[in-house]
Amino acid sequence: MKGTSAWSKVDKKEVFDFAENYRKFLSQCKTEREVVEYMKELLKDQDGLKLFEIRGKALVIFADSGDVKNGFRIIASHIDVPRIDLKPNPLFEDTELAMMETHYYGGIKKYQWVARPLALHGVVVKEDGTVIKVNIGDKEGDPVFTFADLLPHLSRKIQGDKKISEAIPGEKLDLLVGNIPVEKIIKDTEVKDKVKENILRILKEQYNIEEEDFVSAEIEIVPQGEAKDVGFDKGLIGGYGHDDRVCAYTSVMAIKDARKFAKPALVILYDKEEIGSDGNTGAQSLAIEYVITQILKEKGITDYYTLREVMYKSEAISADVTAGVNPGWKEVHEIKNAAKIGYGLAISKYTGHGGKYSSNDAHAEFVAKVRRILNKNNVVWQVAELGKIDEGGGGTVAKYLSKFGIDTIDAGVPLLGMHSPFEIASKVDIYMAYKGYKAFLETE
Ligand code: MN
Ligand code: MN
Repeated sequence: MKGTSAWSKVDKKEVFDFAENYRKFLSQCKTEREVVEYMKELLKDQDGLKLFEIRGKALVIFADSGDVKNGFRIIASHIDVPRIDLKPNPLFEDTELAMMETHYYGGIKKYQWVARPLALHGVVVKEDGTVIKVNIGDKEGDPVFTFADLLPHLSRKIQGDKKISEAIPGEKLDLLVGNIPVEKIIKDTEVKDKVKENILRILKEQYNIEEEDFVSAEIEIVPQGEAKDVGFDKGLIGGYGHDDRVCAYTSVMAIKDARKFAKPALVILYDKEEIGSDGNTGAQSLAIEYVITQILKEKGITDYYTLREVMYKSEAISADVTAGVNPGWKEVHEIKNAAKIGYGLAISKYTGHGGKYSSNDAHAEFVAKVRRILNKNNVVWQVAELGKIDEGGGGTVAKYLSKFGIDTIDAGVPLLGMHSPFEIASKVDIYMAYKGYKAFLETE
């Protein structure tokens, strides 16, 4: 079996047009909440699609076509991305600098996050329920924030002699947020932390945020700036959050553009995959069962047996990214079973680690069905294992869908630099994911 570059099999203009819309989406949406808002707006006038929002951070899109008793075709991705969150009591002053305490979210390499411009995206919820949207750093004229790194002249021992995973401890990731001391002295009493005091005043005046409000906030520190075309030929897109917004975007476009449906379709955008799919917006939550119960109830189906049967008869793609071969680090892959950038949609029968442990491992019959659908629709695809046996490993939402008895397979876009602030994907792989997901929804 020998793959060929997908570029030789496509209309380049069609690929570039699709990718440009995706690039704009990726530049604009940097939190799960922002993706949900974007998709609600995108689909608001779309006939035949129903949206079910889960706590503003996960979304289910239902294409009402055909008898639900035969089960659904499901494509499930996730819209949370590794990042760094503010702690509930973040603000402090040290050495005349205002700083914020942070706690990282998901699998990051901490050294990649220092010495770069960062933006703050998220929400602050006031005691009375008022939601203040925070989006600072990505708009024209906005300041940015950063984690200042240590100079090489003084880091030889404290960083250089350490393992790379220990060189930047999590508690050293304190965000730099200010330097100017407050001018006025309140009622002649000396204010202790004048720089912090000044930041509190700015937060109150400009954003109506008070110190205690950070307790009920979700503010995510994310890379500042737009996603960019990469390479002289502009064949790649680099940006923050391809994992897994690339599969989220392509699966939403697939359900939006599908001309027919093999079965009623569900596109699910989950939250919290990067921290184990726990919580009531993650794939381990029974919230999805609640949504399906609602769909069935509207069709007059309320018995438990039919709910179970509908789920058992469903078929799913767990749409998530995988590792593309990086020419400089080939040794972590077994090349014949590794995904190559530009070779199309990557199908993974299993993920997991240590002898397929913790993996869904799709059945041969279902893999055959998906293979037939992709081939019939001229989708360029390839097989993918995440890496060499026992090299490491990882998981997706596949195993949580399969808990319901749903036949499930992993299929997504191969990336370079996954989980970094600047992940790389090929435009043609993004396009093939879209084509592949659409084919899965359309084809019997
Ligand atoms: Mn992922
Ligand atoms: Mn991930």
